[in-house]
Amino acid sequence: MRRVLAAAVAALTVTTAGTVTTGAPGQAALPGRARPVPVTASPTPGSPGLGDSYFPDYGNGGYDVDHYDVRLRYEPATDRLSGTTTVLATATQDLSRFNLDFALDVESVRVNGWPAGFAREGDHELAVTAPRPIVKGQSLTVVVRYAGIPSRTKVYGYTGWTRTADGALAANEPESAWWWFPSNDHPLDKATFDISVSVPTGVEVISNGVQPRAPLAEAGNRTRWSWRSVQPGTTYQAFIAIGQYDIVTDTAPNGQPVVNAYSTTLGERGPAARASIERTAEVVDWESGVFGPYPFEAQGGVAGPIDGIGFALETQTRPVYGPGFWRRGSNPYVVVHENAHQWFGDSVSVADWSQIWLNEGFASYAEWLWSEEQGEGTAQELFDLTYAGYPADSEYWQVLPGDPGASRVFDDAVYDRGAMALHQIRLAVGDDAFFRILPAWTAAHAHGNGTIAQFQALAEQISGQDLDQVFTTWLFTAGRPEVAAAARASLAPAQPRSWAKIRAAHELLPR
Ligand SMILES: [Zn+2]
Repeated sequence: MRRVLAAAVAALTVTTAGTVTTGAPGQAALPGRARPVPVTASPTPGSPGLGDSYFPDYGNGGYDVDHYDVRLRYEPATDRLSGTTTVLATATQDLSRFNLDFALDVESVRVNGWPAGFAREGDHELAVTAPRPIVKGQSLTVVVRYAGIPSRTKVYGYTGWTRTADGALAANEPESAWWWFPSNDHPLDKATFDISVSVPTGVEVISNGVQPRAPLAEAGNRTRWSWRSVQPGTTYQAFIAIGQYDIVTDTAPNGQPVVNAYSTTLGERGPAARASIERTAEVVDWESGVFGPYPFEAQGGVAGPIDGIGFALETQTRPVYGPGFWRRGSNPYVVVHENAHQWFGDSVSVADWSQIWLNEGFASYAEWLWSEEQGEGTAQELFDLTYAGYPADSEYWQVLPGDPGASRVFDDAVYDRGAMALHQIRLAVGDDAFFRILPAWTAAHAHGNGTIAQFQALAEQISGQDLDQVFTTWLFTAGRPEVAAAARASLAPAQPRSWAKIRAAHELLPR
């Protein structure tokens, strides 16, 4: 079977347009009727998931997306979202059909210009029947037209779309895209994005990356906002914020555009939001010195509305922050955390959701490093206090940061024990090796994916040490590990100056 397939593919001729023609024996092309016809020996359905160990049906098999062009129209008064997404992809197998992850109502699907059959399967799968067989390596242009009320579209009883008094926020993890664009919804498939949204004039739209053009007036007293992600990103790191925003632009020390946006609904929390998010370029500059060159084309942050999200998210180039972070004044630690994710999570993304420590452990440890840098408490002091904060018999120590389980991806332990694990790795290898390992990791997997095993291998290579014991103990073993500092930690260590701010952030970060 395999040999027959290879022979058939070898006989194909790929045209410059990416379509495939063949002259099958006994079927000489008729003059004037020749038309590119893809053929394949045995096209099969693309898998409905990518086999993630926690979320096996997230993402889809059989193709790889290169670019999403998401063109939307939104009505804040009714939450009606309509639009067209054009997915540019490459087939990775011979396909008879393939899935996209999507929850809104679909009006039509075309594949390379041909009308395609489609059907809803389950809560978030859109099955597309290939109008013609698709061969491995073929370029796919999939155009999906759709409309719906995302705040009322529930998947597993839930919507990741947040409707607010003046607009909406599409920002959630791991599920976000299902409510606004069809996608291959797994971090393994990264793509670039063009995102544009038409809204009533006077409403702002903020998204990832840069603005390829100024907001454009459209008929009917409407304005279309356009955003572009130049570097590839995952589907959950794409976002849109729609509503009443003050937008502040500037240039970062590295010459990149900074775009910060502040909901006008924040009231007395507005100044604290600005005092935090306006430090983004400073934070990114410092993090670039510790983690390696900043991986993206723009910087910024979005202070979401007072009735928006209760968390913060590392949306690519421009994190989104819920209003809770400013409830006790400014908090640069959450800015440090979300921007650390630009390296750990956004550029180097998890290959499987079980590897979430590579995101949250590192972003949390970045806060401890910032505390050291600011002279507000050392990582060791923060380790001691965190360690002492959880009694040995606490359930907390039963969660494994290296494999927390699908329902505990955002557990406290992934963040705090995750940071403690990195501190133990640092102690094991020493500062010199540790601060070479971090930029080596972000360089080795830039704009790609990583696993904990790969990180351990790199850390062992750079340090020249066998680190199996520290990784196993801190990431993969239930129970409170013994540490040399335990006796000291049990005596209720004094609080570093950074402690209250870090705790205030971490009350909201894990979910
Ligand atoms: Zn985080």
